[in-house]
Amino acid sequence: MPVTRMMPTEESADLIELTRSLVSRELRPRVEAAETTSTFPREVFRTLGRAGLLSLPYPEEFGGGGQVYEVYLQVLEEIAAAWASVGVGTSVHALSCFGLFTVGTDEQKRQWLPEMLSGEQLGAYCLSEAHAGSDPAAMRTRATRDGDHYVIKGAKAWTTHGGQADFYKVMARTSDDGGRGISCFLVPADSPGLSADKPEQKMGLTGSTTATMLFENVSVPVERRLGAEGQGLPIALAGLDAGRLGIAAVATGLAQGALEIAITYAKERQAFGKAIIDHQGLGFVLADMAAAVESARATYLAAARLKDAGKPYSRQASIAKLIATDNAMKVTTDAVQVLGGAGYTKDFPAERYMREAKVMQIFEGTNQIQRLVIARDLSR
Ligand SMILES: Cc1cc2nc3c(=O)[nH]c(=O)nc-3n(C[C@H](O)[C@H](O)[C@H](O)COP(=O)(O)OP(=O)(O)OC[C@H]3O[C@@H](n4cnc5c(N)ncnc54)[C@H](O)[C@@H]3O)c2cc1C
Repeated sequence: MPVTRMMPTEESADLIELTRSLVSRELRPRVEAAETTSTFPREVFRTLGRAGLLSLPYPEEFGGGGQVYEVYLQVLEEIAAAWASVGVGTSVHALSCFGLFTVGTDEQKRQWLPEMLSGEQLGAYCLSEAHAGSDPAAMRTRATRDGDHYVIKGAKAWTTHGGQADFYKVMARTSDDGGRGISCFLVPADSPGLSADKPEQKMGLTGSTTATMLFENVSVPVERRLGAEGQGLPIALAGLDAGRLGIAAVATGLAQGALEIAITYAKERQAFGKAIIDHQGLGFVLADMAAAVESARATYLAAARLKDAGKPYSRQASIAKLIATDNAMKVTTDAVQVLGGAGYTKDFPAERYMREAKVMQIFEGTNQIQRLVIARDLSR
């Protein structure tokens, strides 16, 4: 039962159809095996890149799809409804390209952006450190200027695509001036001294590799710094506003996928002589799940339209991330309940969806941090 979408143009409606067909052909048949064996699906990202789905919100002159966020996010939702790890990866890749696009010089953009947007080069985003997650200004990884190079030393924790990516967007300290002492660099994966620690053993999103990236005196040419020295944290945080919309869309897709499994099961499963969906107590659970999914979708789309119109949207992005991820946690948990004992087994993906939903409330700023952003904005 595909979601009925109001797409702004005929071209964007076609894009949704293209995504659906690609998802059923290339993604759905591979999900279970990759998630069960914790295998990172690098080829799937190449396929998405070749279909133009990794570059949608970027201008055509750099090889992007020239689509507004309202369209990009709905494509992302369709991908995540089938495979959350790939949805997260698509969003993280967009986040990794964001800084170059927004603050890069024309020369930097011309040199690197087309390959990044084509999906030939997969990106990762290195902000967090072991002792600096919610409070990134506490980071210690240092980039020390040495002539026409910086030398980066430290460790960036929790890197999605760590050890799999082709380039890393890295925030590192260039002075001791707190949040104003951080700069942003694009570091190629094959830089000597750069390596990935062993991947984290996670509760969910097992097809998405997460690892600490170790920087042992990694030499990075000055031309690979994005923006001015000291501008790194604002670049990272501006990227996160857009990234949070991505996570909101991914969480909505995940919840949509769980809802569909629950509805299908509830129509077939009989108890007390009728389908369980026809017992009002359970029908109301499904009704609440549907309401939660639709509210999440409406909330991220409202925020995306503000962004597309060039208006401030930081508060709305945090609201979208908060609502969509909390709703995804509730909807996926309820999906397990609708399936009863079967929901608690690996015979159905409902339990996986529930495990995957949990991390959505944690990364790209925990939902406590989203509330902090919203409250600070309200107090201004
Ligand atoms: C699977 C996965 C993938 C990730 N991918 C990336 C990535 O690609 N790049 C990257 O840079 N990072 C990534 N992260 C890191 C993620 O963004 C951080 O885990 C997150 O920001 C929280 O930081 P922390 O884990 O250090 O928790 P902490 O900051 O230690 O927080 C612990 C608890 O305290 C709460 N808390 C902290 N400060 C406050 C406050 N002021 N008010 C109220 N409550 C507060 C938090 O909400 C949380 O509940 C990833 C994490 C995971 C799990």
